[in-house]
Amino acid sequence: MGRSVAVVCPKGGVGKTTVAVNLGSALADKGFRCLIVGVDPQCGLTGSLGKDRFDIDYGLLDFYDPEGSPEKVIQESGIANLDFVTSNVWSREEEEELLAHAAAEPERLTWALSPFKQSYDFILMDCPPSLSALTYSALRAADLMLVPLQAEELAYRALPRLFDSLDELSRGGGRTPELLGIVLNQVDPRTRLANSVIARVRQEYGEQVFQTMIPRTVRLAEVAQRGRPVNLFNRVGAGSQAFAALAEEILTPMRNESERTVEVETEPVEQIAREESAEAAVAAASQPWKPGALLESVTASVESESGGAEPGEDERILSLEEAEKEREVVFSRSRPSLDDYDDNKEDEHLH
Ligand code: ADP
Ligand code: MG
Repeated sequence: MGRSVAVVCPKGGVGKTTVAVNLGSALADKGFRCLIVGVDPQCGLTGSLGKDRFDIDYGLLDFYDPEGSPEKVIQESGIANLDFVTSNVWSREEEEELLAHAAAEPERLTWALSPFKQSYDFILMDCPPSLSALTYSALRAADLMLVPLQAEELAYRALPRLFDSLDELSRGGGRTPELLGIVLNQVDPRTRLANSVIARVRQEYGEQVFQTMIPRTVRLAEVAQRGRPVNLFNRVGAGSQAFAALAEEILTPMRNESERTVEVETEPVEQIAREESAEAAVAAASQPWKPGALLESVTASVESESGGAEPGEDERILSLEEAEKEREVVFSRSRPSLDDYDDNKEDEHLH
């Protein structure tokens, strides 16, 4: 039985979509079947998975259609073990329609997704940057909640609002997800502000904060423009390694739990290892990444894995100002098709 995870934070720009896409891909890479659900009507994940919204006819809205066929809603990403659902909302009217449905039928998403828990190990719901009826629907449908937080003051203040709404949900008799963890994203350890926010979040939320922090890097900023999760074009980079470490940090307690209780499944739903044994695959999955790696050790491992070389220009950790500039550059470039990529050029490590 898979687990549904709401990737949620009531503030925009903290990295919900980035985390859903790149964590989903990191888990898929380890052989776990993942479904990413774009609950956010803006649905940035479609582009990050290299798909054109005009090629997709079905999405979240169809879950609310009594005549709809839920299986048509699932889209193949073209990446092994990774499927997705878009919000399929392309106008203000459709967005209002979706919100109205979510408000009228808060349990619908839970029912719609529950059959897919048989076929996916993880269902990651990329939530809107608000506490709207859609976010509430996702929270009801979620077993667990993963909260990305930007290491800057305003994002930190979004947390109490999120926890207040969970209280409200549980007072109203609704099911509330357990906190899987808070993940600090867009971390630039060189700034005093980031370090003081990190220290405060860790002091206040303790073990609920993942040890793994996601650095702010050019490669992660490029994911939407390239239309591919970072591990597919820059596997040895700091961003990719951080998401692999986060996946490992999530999987480790689940593996330990499954050792104690046989009912909890932590092996991939489908046996990944067509050519290898499942045991070898699970051992391989736990190999290269250090659970709970701190940013420094992630960066260190990048250097050692790339033969001791200095991390390339594009693996550098960006300051907020640098990130803004890079983003402008990234989005001013025309978006190439997937066929334009030559992965040999991008990342020789893969070949
Ligand atoms: P949200 O879904 O919470 O609104 P996004 O995931 O869309 O946030 O991220 C907001 C912007 O920040 C996007 O342009 C994204 O590419 C960029 N971004 C997010 N995380 C990182 C990171 N770790 N490094 C660089 N850019 C990032
Ligand atoms: Mg988003």
